[in-house]
Amino acid sequence: MQYVSTRATSASAERNPQQFSDILLAGLAPDGGLYLPEEYPQVTAAELDAWRALSYADLAYEILRKFATDIPDADLRALTAKTYTAQVYCNARADESTAQITPLRVLEDGPQGKLILQALSNGPTLAFKDMAMQLLGNLFEYALARNDDALNIFGATSGDTGSAAEYAMRGKRGVRVFMLSPHGKMSAFQSAQMFSLQDPNIFNIAVEGVFDDCQDMVKAVSNDLEFKARHKIGTVNSINWARVVAQVVYYFRGYLAATTASDQKVSFTVPSGNFGNICAGHIARMMGLPIDRLVAATNENDVLDEFFRTGRYRVRKAAETFHTSSPSMDISKASNFERFVYDLVGRDPARTHALMHKVEQEGGFDLSGQPGSDGDEWKRCGQYGFASGKSTHADRLDTIREVNDDYGITIDTHTADGIKVARAHLKPGVPMIVLETALAAKFNETILDALGTDAERPAGFENIEALPQRFVVMPVDVERIKSYIAQHTGL
Ligand SMILES: *Cc1c(COP(=O)(O)O)cnc(C)c1O
Repeated sequence: MQYVSTRATSASAERNPQQFSDILLAGLAPDGGLYLPEEYPQVTAAELDAWRALSYADLAYEILRKFATDIPDADLRALTAKTYTAQVYCNARADESTAQITPLRVLEDGPQGKLILQALSNGPTLAFKDMAMQLLGNLFEYALARNDDALNIFGATSGDTGSAAEYAMRGKRGVRVFMLSPHGKMSAFQSAQMFSLQDPNIFNIAVEGVFDDCQDMVKAVSNDLEFKARHKIGTVNSINWARVVAQVVYYFRGYLAATTASDQKVSFTVPSGNFGNICAGHIARMMGLPIDRLVAATNENDVLDEFFRTGRYRVRKAAETFHTSSPSMDISKASNFERFVYDLVGRDPARTHALMHKVEQEGGFDLSGQPGSDGDEWKRCGQYGFASGKSTHADRLDTIREVNDDYGITIDTHTADGIKVARAHLKPGVPMIVLETALAAKFNETILDALGTDAERPAGFENIEALPQRFVVMPVDVERIKSYIAQHTGL
């Protein structure tokens, strides 16, 4: 299996295909595009039926070996077996089986259709990002050991991604994590999750500024190519291919758990921000998984819903990007969307490049087919199964209350966006699986508003705010962070 950039035309230098291990530690391709396989591996009905009985770890192995063809099978099997264990994904509710890793729960089975919740938040940081990030930690350690190399991950977080990265990389040989966060701006629970880590390879830096200041510091350091190379600086953002492909697995798991034979179909509704999660669903569908609809659910930051409704992709300015009660979906542009655009325009890298160039220059593109638009491919979105919907703060509160009243469970705000949108896309005979992206305990402020009571915390998280914390405070100062990194990498 070889990988190409979405922008690699035959004239460009990056045309030469890469192996999985080559792009594992990479972010963007050098031409600014995103990596995708030259073609999607296909899954037969016989394979699907055989996979029904597999454990999550074995299923992950079967799917990943189609993509990571340059990692020996025995090594890959060991990596998935080490990652997808009931010990790592242990935060299931009392009535769910941790052994299933991503257990399903049927919420409703009525005349309008079947509504199912797939739990993806049983990992160490109580959000779905652990599904991929935990594997990434083990893959990084493996790849670095193989090349006797090291990696210093440098990033900024306002909560979710940073903690998932730290819990994935803690204690991993060859890896250090330097994570900036806005000092005093995260919830007490979120800072406690990150700052209570005592592992010597994790460095939490609380910056006296806002999240944008942190991000600007990361950009400034990344633009210093000499420093970046000397200190082996890398990232683990949502465009990382291995993260996307690890997420493909739970679409297969959800499908297999919700059906009894491979002539049946299911649909998925996915709370979406950067289009990473639902991009994995698109890839699963392209591999032949019988998915009917892939429904993107957005909050008030409806960049994706607007595209799927109108064909116009319009990134938002900072002032148009809302701070909502489902904050992990507060995006101004969807960083993985280019992967779908590439398929939508018939895998034409020159056209993809032109459209993405237009995004950079003019803030968007229009594939509606209207006079003056950039093309008419939007009309093909339905062939790829895509649909969408949007949810607001009031919808979230209502949905959290309804789900609590009707089914006796407390869902988080992002999952509430998913349930709200999924209800509008139910179809008799096609189960609708909503992906749960976080546990309610992570977003307790809104739960308290909706229900008047606190969200239940999984065992072990009761007193997390009282644990000793390990972090340094730093002003917004690029030279200071550089010397801090240099001092701790010893390079
Ligand atoms: C990251 C995140 C999302 C959005 O996922 P994308 O892959 O960016 O679309 C949704 N919900 C939660 C809780 C998240 O952490």
